[in-house]
Amino acid sequence: MRIYELAKKYGVDSKKLLEICEKVGIKDKNSLSGLKEEEALKIENYIKESKEKGNLQKRAPVVTIMGHVDHGKTTILDAIRKSRITAKEYGQITQKIGAYKVTLPQGSIVFIDTPGHEAFTAMRARGAKVTDIVVLVVAADEGVKPQTLEAIDHAKSANVPIIVAINKIDKPNINPEKIKKDLSEYGLVPEEWGGDTIYVNVSGLTGQGLDELLEMILLLGEMMELKADPNKPAKGTIIESQLHKSKGPLLTVLVQEGTLHLGDIFVAGETWGKVRAMVDDWGKRIEKAEPSTPVEILGSNEVVPPGTKFEVVSSEKEAKEICERIKEEKKKAVSTVKKLTLEDLYRELKKGEIKELKIVLKTDYIGSIEAIRNAIEKIPTEEVKISFIHSATGPITESDILLASASNGIVIGFNVPLAPKAEEVAKREGVEVKIYRVIYELVDEIKRAIEGMLEPEEKENILGQAVVKKVFKFSKKLVVAGCLVVDGKVVRDSNVRIIRDGKVIFEGILTSLKRFKDPVKEVSSNTECGIAIENFTDFKEGDIIQSYTIVKVPRKLK
Ligand code: GDP
Repeated sequence: MRIYELAKKYGVDSKKLLEICEKVGIKDKNSLSGLKEEEALKIENYIKESKEKGNLQKRAPVVTIMGHVDHGKTTILDAIRKSRITAKEYGQITQKIGAYKVTLPQGSIVFIDTPGHEAFTAMRARGAKVTDIVVLVVAADEGVKPQTLEAIDHAKSANVPIIVAINKIDKPNINPEKIKKDLSEYGLVPEEWGGDTIYVNVSGLTGQGLDELLEMILLLGEMMELKADPNKPAKGTIIESQLHKSKGPLLTVLVQEGTLHLGDIFVAGETWGKVRAMVDDWGKRIEKAEPSTPVEILGSNEVVPPGTKFEVVSSEKEAKEICERIKEEKKKAVSTVKKLTLEDLYRELKKGEIKELKIVLKTDYIGSIEAIRNAIEKIPTEEVKISFIHSATGPITESDILLASASNGIVIGFNVPLAPKAEEVAKREGVEVKIYRVIYELVDEIKRAIEGMLEPEEKENILGQAVVKKVFKFSKKLVVAGCLVVDGKVVRDSNVRIIRDGKVIFEGILTSLKRFKDPVKEVSSNTECGIAIENFTDFKEGDIIQSYTIVKVPRKLK
């Protein structure tokens, strides 16, 4: 194709097109020479991409509030929610739909209504990235607490920047400077000390400092250049859902890309629906929702959990097909989505799929954390970087498991139990939890995992047993035991052991299995059969032949 033809096709002049040629690395072209197919493709892609970029528009930052219990997260969320009700709107009731939007002259901000890192990480474990900025609330009178640190680790492993709100600034005898100093040790160095963390003193109770907090969120959002293309079919994430008594399933969607319209057909996880009605966080009916807008929609066939992806599709037919496909795939996949385990670490390393082993570490004493980290950091390895995404004392909790799940990491416990429910969540999420009592064992196992020396645990699966009723000697080498299968089944080529008087006298392979004269694959209970075993001829009436297989199972939670 000639350059001028291409220029015409895309509505750019030849001069512009020559500039593009330069940018994509096509040299020495003039308007008369022809273009190779791949060159034309490069140019087309460039034009398409820059058009898409051109459609990108600024969007509001989405904020999650985190922090230790009782430090004032809910109070701040509510205070900001109330502050947006202007005199004109006074008396209007806001609707709790899971998130709300504050609109200021300088811009808007979306606040997720469920504070805390648990909900944040649970969504992330489903693969949803919703939050752009975390506001970490620290009560000035209490300072840095375990959940403050936990929240920092959860935000960091999601790569989400943190603004610190020192709350309860109205209280007497407080020392915000000490909080800054303490948090600096965890990498949150204030701007005035040469770091890049924004700190704001606030009071959720009196409202002091909240305007400044909102300004800082907008400022950071501005710096992050948060953008989305509103001219596309909508995509987003479910942040809340409920089954309403009369309305049916209600989903709150945070639109993250494109614009959601009334009447749109969508897929959300394994379900689909049609947007029959939409309300915003004021409870007002709306017809469309642009990026960074939370809306509650009516018309889903089912409720789906928070964190589920949401996407508008072109037709009901397509929606049904996608859902069918997802359901099929889910059926095929064995029970849980398997996450990284120590056992397959080596294989993944070889495939080049991971370069970092992320560990959530829970120990009995603070001192053990340092000791373990030091010991593990001494493991000589170039293949993998070992990083501790969260280390703390105490039992392994649900939130530890979710953090590991969201980051495709593992959980290591040292002399600590699994909290109730955590084991169940670990199973559901497919997260490996290993508990050790001796540091040496822990270090050794990680070392062997990196070297690919960690074998999966082998477990015996007993298939069934047969009793020898009569022995047939055909030749010295060929002796067949006429048997009756008494429970389960015996299977050809399976492992067998011969038990005589309660003792195992031989272990081998079941090489021949016959019903009358015919070879068969397996024989089940209450059926007679002939069995021959490799390298064994010394059958006696009354011997028990146990048929079993060895299955490799991932090492169990210890
Ligand atoms: P959350 O667990 O972090 O959501 O904390 P809450 O918002 O429930 O607040 C815990 C307690 O601290 C409540 O009794 C609030 O009234 C109180 N509180 C919250 N913010 C402030 C504040 O700025 N000043 C004072 N004095 N008390 C506050």
